[in-house]
Amino acid sequence: MVNLTEIEVVADQDPLGWRLDNTYSRLPGCLFSPAKPAEVSAPRLVILNHKLAADLGLDLTQMSADAAAALFAGQDLPDGFQPIAQAYAGHQYGGFTMLGDGRAILLGEQCSPRGRFDIQLKGAGQTQYSRRGDGRAALGPMLREYIISEAMFALGIPTTRSLAVVTTGERVYRQSQLPGAILTRVAASHIRVGTFQYLAARDDESSLRVLADYTIQRHYPELADSTNRHADFFRAVMDRQAALIARWQLVGFVHGVMNTDNVAISGETIDYGPCAFMNAFDPATVFSSIDHAGRYAYGNQPAIAQWNLARFAETLLPLLAPQQDDAIAIATDMLGQFPDLFEEYWLAGMRAKLGLQKAEVGDRDLAESLLNWMQKTKADFTNTFRDLSVDEPLTAERYGSPEFQSWNSRWQLRLSQQSRSASATRTTMRRVNPAVIPRNHRVEEALAAAENGELSLLLRLLAVLATPYNVDAESAGYQIPSDDCSYRTFCGT
Ligand code: AMP
Ligand code: MG
Repeated sequence: MVNLTEIEVVADQDPLGWRLDNTYSRLPGCLFSPAKPAEVSAPRLVILNHKLAADLGLDLTQMSADAAAALFAGQDLPDGFQPIAQAYAGHQYGGFTMLGDGRAILLGEQCSPRGRFDIQLKGAGQTQYSRRGDGRAALGPMLREYIISEAMFALGIPTTRSLAVVTTGERVYRQSQLPGAILTRVAASHIRVGTFQYLAARDDESSLRVLADYTIQRHYPELADSTNRHADFFRAVMDRQAALIARWQLVGFVHGVMNTDNVAISGETIDYGPCAFMNAFDPATVFSSIDHAGRYAYGNQPAIAQWNLARFAETLLPLLAPQQDDAIAIATDMLGQFPDLFEEYWLAGMRAKLGLQKAEVGDRDLAESLLNWMQKTKADFTNTFRDLSVDEPLTAERYGSPEFQSWNSRWQLRLSQQSRSASATRTTMRRVNPAVIPRNHRVEEALAAAENGELSLLLRLLAVLATPYNVDAESAGYQIPSDDCSYRTFCGT
């Protein structure tokens, strides 16, 4: 078994603070292939997340921009990284495929005071798994991932993080020629439902056991000695998924491509492709240009999460019980608990959004009535909850409608029966109802400027998104919804 407590610290005295390990490379060889970041002609640093670097135990403040560019383009790697591409499979839009990191290279693991984190370059060139892809990424989508992932982090939602973006000096060829770029992604790990599917599809039970135990050790160490370790593992993964998807629903986040290869076992949000935040509340909200059937629509996310967990459970069957029928019964029983589990997380979150201190029978109905009104009137999801949280009266015309007034009286009555003051309630609500989210038009304007070498809009946007629950004169302008029923996002770009 790979031991996570014996860190092979190759560069303990490293002046930047790298404390590197490569436990994934000590797993069965079929799970990865050695990879090397492609040489690039003119790496240039676009953005570096110094706060995140500090959290990782790194001090990059004294590093020159050129040295940082070379590092985050994978050109000048410190000793101790052993770059690999990870193998995985996945159900993409319901269809099963063998995949792998086609345009991502895992450099290694940074052992920081806050734990072990994968350091991965996205867009660093071809790997064993690139199939017909070029292994590259364009600047816009990499900055987009940077913006949205960091916004999710600031909202308090489990997510991979973004440490840096560099341009490579190369062009990438999509519908047009675009500036090539590399994102440095930081994750608790990149182990996915698809990683388990990869081994299950190869009928490799012994590697599957090793991967399961490694993943338990890495993400669920409290289960290491449990007697029903693998069933408990599944339950714990399901619990984190239920909590995560509830958090998405509660901020109106549409992931857009919930394929099983994009489900992290750690419970982090991963793979920011065609994702976007909903404006007007509508369960049918879809942004992805290829999601014609709305498989990954906002309102479908909980059901899709359960579907993905079913695929995960299938991979674990050989570990759950010696007889397949018994294993299926155990898995089916656990999976059947997902809807209630999700509902618990969602309703607890809704109570907080509505300032309800204690659970009562009518809470779900109260929340749903508001959502129904929002859907009918195309009310902005984020701003409606924020409006309910601030001290100013609800003066906007839509709040004058009889339907809203009647809902509001019900809500006020419920609030008046609580022990705390209305103003104290609103203070707690402002801690869970964000004032700002990455509005699509703001993201697009920042990306367009950045593609022209002008970073000020991007930096402003990132600063505003870093404190989503506080508004000041500056961030107020970022609360305006995007007028974007036809907004489309793109995958794998
Ligand atoms: P994604 O849509 O980013 O989750 O990617 C799905 C799969 O396609 C993954 O296995 C990626 O590694 C692969 N892929 C996406 N873009 C590229 C590319 N430009 N070159 C090679 N592989 C890619
Ligand atoms: Mg992916």
